[in-house]
Amino acid sequence: MAKITRKPAPRKADVPKKKAKAVVAKPNALARKSLRAMKRWTPAEVHEAFSRFRKANPEPKGELEHVNPFTLLVAVVLSAQATDAGVNKATRALFEVADTPQKMIDLGEERLREYIKTIGLYRTKARNVIALSAKLISEFGGEVPRTRAEIESLPGAGRKTANVVLNMAFGEHTMAVDTHVFRVGNRTGLAPGKTPLEVELGLEKVIPAEFMLHAHHWLILHGRYTCLARKPRCEVCLINDLCRWPEKTV
Ligand code: SF4
Repeated sequence: MAKITRKPAPRKADVPKKKAKAVVAKPNALARKSLRAMKRWTPAEVHEAFSRFRKANPEPKGELEHVNPFTLLVAVVLSAQATDAGVNKATRALFEVADTPQKMIDLGEERLREYIKTIGLYRTKARNVIALSAKLISEFGGEVPRTRAEIESLPGAGRKTANVVLNMAFGEHTMAVDTHVFRVGNRTGLAPGKTPLEVELGLEKVIPAEFMLHAHHWLILHGRYTCLARKPRCEVCLINDLCRWPEKTV
């Protein structure tokens, strides 16, 4: 009879270690449970929070530099997984020579890559910027379109891009959810959600219309400078009495 040989179980040391998880801005399972259990904000509390943001910063501005809707669109496409400061550093010189779709096409993909090579994923982004410029010329008369569906149809542009452009270039009451807004929406309990879309729709539902034009910037700036991912600065937070985050430090 053939001898059955068992393969020895791998020693602990042989088992490849799982890649360490990246620090993400999402609340952990315990915090999510607490968030679900927490009291919803009342309309008066939401109004109070945004009144404070408005009082502190009546005309908040986005930090992506641009000179027209087209350069804003390009800057947002370039900003995926990159910092605004990093994008601005590259686009300052770029927009001097290419601030319209036609000029971008004339510049060409290769030279565009040279301008943006300090930005992550620059090869793909350069390809997208050239392709979206061509599409703007062939389908939209060289202008940035004004509907979400049309903007989302452009290479490299998704829902967040469309929301930023609609809000900043055309004054629409959209809510672009980036990592900062996602964190603030969840932590504060203003609009808890598992996905950016859930948070976006939740925020649109609770924020009064009078604040919606600037709400996106207030929340981004709040997340970027106060409600930081690792160490939120609760002691100087304007809304620390209203915030529902169980781990807030005040
Ligand atoms: S109290 Fe702390 S956790 Fe809550 S919004 Fe302010 S900074 Fe963020």
